[in-house]
Amino acid sequence: MKRLMGMIVLVAMVALVGAHRAGAADTRQEVHFPSLPGSVTIVCDLHMHTVFSDGNVWPTVRVDEAWREGIDAIALTDHIEYQPHKADLPTQHNRPADIAADTARVHDVLLVRGAEITRSTPPGHFNAIFLEDVDPLETDDFYDVFAAAAEQGAFVFWNHPGWQGRERGQWGEQQTNLFARKQLHGIEVCNGNSYYEDAHGWAVERKMTLIGTSDIHDPSIHTDWTAEDHRTLTLVFAEERTLDSVREALFAGRTAVWQQNKLLGYEGLLAEYFPRCIQVFPVHYRHDQHAWFKIANLCPLDLKLERTGEVGPKTLDLPALATSLIHVTVTADQLAAGLNYRVTNFITAPKQSLEVTLTVEDHTPKTPAKNAESK
Ligand SMILES: [Zn+2]
Ligand SMILES: [Zn+2]
Repeated sequence: MKRLMGMIVLVAMVALVGAHRAGAADTRQEVHFPSLPGSVTIVCDLHMHTVFSDGNVWPTVRVDEAWREGIDAIALTDHIEYQPHKADLPTQHNRPADIAADTARVHDVLLVRGAEITRSTPPGHFNAIFLEDVDPLETDDFYDVFAAAAEQGAFVFWNHPGWQGRERGQWGEQQTNLFARKQLHGIEVCNGNSYYEDAHGWAVERKMTLIGTSDIHDPSIHTDWTAEDHRTLTLVFAEERTLDSVREALFAGRTAVWQQNKLLGYEGLLAEYFPRCIQVFPVHYRHDQHAWFKIANLCPLDLKLERTGEVGPKTLDLPALATSLIHVTVTADQLAAGLNYRVTNFITAPKQSLEVTLTVEDHTPKTPAKNAESK
């Protein structure tokens, strides 16, 4: 009997997994971002929709897509106040995360229960994530919604600030109040292919967490990502690959936003991160003042560097996940002092990018002085 029950459970489990995507190869493209010392890089999309608001896919599909595209963590954030499918699908704010939970467990995708607080602009839209229960957030008074989210320990960010134009997307009284109450923690500086420069400035000024999301509504048909063409995502530098750890890192502001071929993040974090993104090899050949060495780019961005110092090539273009051969015309002493560059696509604040010094070791024999005489 016991054995029979075991068989039934096994058959049921196989049916559950098999029904999930019969026949499809469950393979995943990886998104290769290096990690910081003592942390793991969690690739997150924290803003997406399903048929439970104005999206066009069933909740489990969002998990399948995340798996295939190499995304580690997703938040389902259907609109609370905007329910255009209500006639066909009654309003049930918690169903998206409930429905997707099993698929997420099977695929080891971290699933976050969220909701989009959807008010007219200004003040606009906000995502509350890491909710236990979305229902208490359906309330008329604007501030009551955020109080309900705070009660559940939610992480809250302001969505797509400039989507109704620059004027309507200004930091306003509501943002000031929410921020003062510690009920607003981050800003979506990138939403899809939109970058909100004003909002980036407001975030940096207040040390708020930088967020980038897809805000995807339709099925994701994108699988072959390039440095330029991929989902807009948030990299979360978490202590470990768990929901608690992701949440902790979000509150601590340990994020970077990957949009198009650029990475946005706080200067301190990007300064620590950049050396993890490249490997500079020692000079392998020197001839007089000509030296050759290699730089491996270990991240999925094409790194763009511009010289800020006196020596080295004027620009360095380092393609994603590839190794480039570099030729410099410098003396060994000049090289030992380091090569100074600006990484133009590591953005630390509006119109500002990261400055770095490349250290290149040179163990090649010193060229003897030409006029040395020997007796
Ligand atoms: Zn929105
Ligand atoms: Zn949205």
